[in-house]
Amino acid sequence: MDTTKLRALALEASKNAYSPYSKAHVGCALETSDGSIYTGCNIENASYGGTICAERVAILKAVSEKKMKLKQIYIYTKEGWPPCGMCRQVMSEFAADDLEVIIGNEAGHETKMKFKDLMPLSFTPDHLVP
Ligand code: ZN
Repeated sequence: MDTTKLRALALEASKNAYSPYSKAHVGCALETSDGSIYTGCNIENASYGGTICAERVAILKAVSEKKMKLKQIYIYTKEGWPPCGMCRQVMSEFAADDLEVIIGNEAGHETKMKFKDLMPLSFTPDHLVP
C-alpha cells in the first residue's frame, strides 16, 4: 500500500483515540507481509499502566489474526512523535527484515526509515531461539 493511503488510515485511526488524560491523539496503520492492513489508536486508562499505544494496538490486532510479519508501519500524531521504546521492542518481535517505519505529522512532514536504523542492535527472538 502506498504511503498516502497508509497515512490517511493512520490519521483516521487517531480520531478514535481514547485519551482523556494526555489529550494526545495517536493513530497507526500498518501493512503486514501478505498485504493485510491493521490500524490502532492510543487507549488510556485511569490506572496509567493500563494505557496502550496506538502502535501496539495495531500490531496486536495483526498478530491476533496470525499476521506475524510487519512490512510497513505509519505513525501519525499532530506533532510527529516517534514510537516509544516499548513499541519499538514489540515491533522488533514482528518486524520483517526490511520493515519501514514512517512518522507523520499534521503539517504533512514525514520521516521514513528502516526499523533496523530506528532500533539498531534490538533484542529479537533470534537471541532466544537457537
Ligand atoms: Zn508506544
